[in-house]
Amino acid sequence: NCPISPKSIVDDACASYATLEKLNTRIKPAIDDLTRNTDFFSHYRLNLFHKQCPFWNDENGMCGNIGCAVETLDSEEDIPEVWRAHELSKLEGPRAQHPGKKARHENPERPLQGKLGEDVGESCVFEYDDECDERDYCVPDDESDGSKGDYVSLTRNPERFTGYAGDGARQVWDAAYRENCFQKSSFPHSANLGVSQWQPGPAAQDFKHVLDAAGRQAQLEQQRIEKPNTPFVANTGFEVDDECLEKRVFYRVVSGMHASISSHLCWDFLNQTTGEWQPNLACYEFRLHKFPDRISNVYFNYALLTRAVAKLGQYLKGEEYTFCTGDAQGDAVTRAKVLQVTEQAASVPQIFDESLMFVNGEGPSLKEDFRNRFRNISRLMDCVGCDKCRLWGKLQTAGYGTALKVLFELDNKSGDVPILKRTELVALFNTYARISSSMYAIGQFRHLMEDKIAAE
Ligand code: FAD
Repeated sequence: NCPISPKSIVDDACASYATLEKLNTRIKPAIDDLTRNTDFFSHYRLNLFHKQCPFWNDENGMCGNIGCAVETLDSEEDIPEVWRAHELSKLEGPRAQHPGKKARHENPERPLQGKLGEDVGESCVFEYDDECDERDYCVPDDESDGSKGDYVSLTRNPERFTGYAGDGARQVWDAAYRENCFQKSSFPHSANLGVSQWQPGPAAQDFKHVLDAAGRQAQLEQQRIEKPNTPFVANTGFEVDDECLEKRVFYRVVSGMHASISSHLCWDFLNQTTGEWQPNLACYEFRLHKFPDRISNVYFNYALLTRAVAKLGQYLKGEEYTFCTGDAQGDAVTRAKVLQVTEQAASVPQIFDESLMFVNGEGPSLKEDFRNRFRNISRLMDCVGCDKCRLWGKLQTAGYGTALKVLFELDNKSGDVPILKRTELVALFNTYARISSSMYAIGQFRHLMEDKIAAE
């Protein structure tokens, strides 16, 4: 009996790692099947190209142009064009424009589905979902310019090594950790700025002094976290156990997502000498193996997502949730695959106890702050200067945002169920698939490390 609450975290002593790994051997085949083999879950709608980074000038921080991307690899001109960073970053596969509201108004008879374009072969992924909910932890992707974005095939654009690195990538991660700001008095925007000033999407100038000051603080924080001799207490994420629960959870979600992305780019790495995609053990060693806290945050996120998916299961059982209006058979197949995942997720004892959050001490007052800061992380993804990375960054922040919404806003007792949009469901289940494959990759890397050590 080894529950994982935000307070007690997965560790070997508690055997929680093992519990989650065992669960993952059952979840992984089911979630892979769902996300790869159904139209509904293998395509994602997002606004990938038309939003500007709201926090800084793209020209300084972004690495979205070819020159910048090339700079990130030492001798790129020596390798074939198709292996270069800007090629690796490109999206592949059919990408159909969303027909927009107009199409439906022109033909009111038309159900909530449509054809996506030539050769797309889907009829099951079209929807209208403009409604925003104040309980959202993410910014709806159509927030700013009214355009509905594009559908992207997730299976054709796997998350893997792209070569995106350098100042642009660093800036995004730094800013994401700065959002974990509500630490004591140390971060100025939680201490001095009201939430109303912080959201939504302040102009870059308003942000600058905040970011500068927070940046200095974040650097200190970063040093504190990384100082090699600082004892690390695995169950807090910080060496000093004086942070409140909610702040720790926030940090761990971001760090776990970051570590999950690192695991994928190391697992599906391009060997630029041979041109082969293969695991890169040195990459794993350097980014994850040396940082057990980062790995523990992957497990933490796995536990959190498992709980959210298990909780959601009961709402997806019945016929009322239509996965593809107008196609009953497609609905049934998709639903069966969804339930395989949710039932597996619910098959373990409750491993994440969200009821402990936002209740004691300053907890209740933090909820809105927590939500707004998470929204800022989702906005940050528009600052990612590599198409594929931006796609997966947006999807995963939306996935965690949905999980948080399910955990903290879905009250089983009152029956007050926030509406979940298709994009939220797709993001949640694909994020679950991502963290599941991170667990798998980390397990495989661990074996490779053992072999390496044995051979030395
Ligand atoms: P980074 O990973 O950039 O990390 C910066 C600093 O953050 C580190 O030096 C360390 O101090 C700290 N840090 C690192 N990991 C953690 C952690 N888990 N928890 C806490 N602190 C940590 N590249 C790809 O090849 N493929 C992708 O799909 C991809 N997706 C990305 C998505 C996003 C949203 C972003 C911002 C970047 C993405 N990148 C991707 C780039 C990738 O994440 C790295 O930024 C890049 O490989 C450079 O790595 P780095 O070694 O400089 O350290």
